[in-house]
Amino acid sequence: VIKTKTKLYGVIGDPIDHSLSPLLHNWFFETFKIDAAYMAFRVKREQLGLCMEGMKAFGIGGLNVTSPHKESITLLVDEKSPEVSTLMAANTIKNDGEKLSAYVTDPLGFIESLGDERDRFAGASVVLFGAGGAAKSVAYALSKLSVHKLVVVNRSAGRAVALAHAARQVFGIPTVETVTMDDKLLRDALSQASIVINTTPLGMRPSENSSILNDFSSLSKRHFVYDLIYNPSITVLLSKAKAMGAVTQNGLDMLIFQGLESLRIWMGDRYEIDSESLNQLRKLLMRESGNYEHD
Ligand code: NAP
Repeated sequence: VIKTKTKLYGVIGDPIDHSLSPLLHNWFFETFKIDAAYMAFRVKREQLGLCMEGMKAFGIGGLNVTSPHKESITLLVDEKSPEVSTLMAANTIKNDGEKLSAYVTDPLGFIESLGDERDRFAGASVVLFGAGGAAKSVAYALSKLSVHKLVVVNRSAGRAVALAHAARQVFGIPTVETVTMDDKLLRDALSQASIVINTTPLGMRPSENSSILNDFSSLSKRHFVYDLIYNPSITVLLSKAKAMGAVTQNGLDMLIFQGLESLRIWMGDRYEIDSESLNQLRKLLMRESGNYEHD
């Protein structure tokens, strides 16, 4: 029940219609018995400044920020976490009543989503598809996981080179290379790697028949293949990789854990989800996104 003291939180982006964040965060509020409500707001680029003023005026406790505002929001806050300053992107804003502070929870969300698979990363060689915002967060997380080698594969070479440069010079990954999608070197990179991560939207509904890879023969049971997409829950990449014996994971737990980290920042409390509740939450989110077959 919404009362006078109920605190408001939300997500801003454009478009925002398909966001699962309201379901996720209202589930958190109910589960952890927090007197708060969470809404989705479509905010146009030119109204972002006004939105931040409104956040202060209305006393909105916190906002998640999604495309296309993740970068521009960093210019409109009073304080930035060290990760935000490094990545120049934010997905979480906290309003403490006096100032707005920006945080980015995607890297930690990625790391926490790995569970026991985390042990695979130290010293590993990783092929990363994509060089956009999500790829940057994942590359930063990979540096924290002490991977040894990163191969960035992206459609446009300029963005791949920029991410590779940041991964080596700023994040400190020891060996970083770029290869192009049609490069024969890609096959070698895939064979030599033990981890493959897709951060592009290729394979996402409604284009669920597409995939970032066409030739899956380099994949084997030695590989861990992670797709940031969660809709569908099993992308073409994941199903083909699984058929080659690889261990696979989709992006649903990253969504959950980046959200949980936002909650921890807003409330200043270390909430944890037990495995039974996590399964319930996964089902709820999958049902909402149209993945009825997931269990
Ligand atoms: P972004 O900044 O727009 O970057 C998109 C990347 O995908 C770019 O590298 C782009 O290549 C590449 N790409 C796009 N369309 C392509 C195509 N048709 N063929 C080849 N490459 C293509 O987007 P983002 O914020 O990084 O998000 C990317 C994906 O990650 C989205 O699907 C998003 O839903 C997902 N994501 C999931 C989570 C999670 O919690 N699970 C969190 C964040 C993001 P160019 O550089 O050549 O344009």
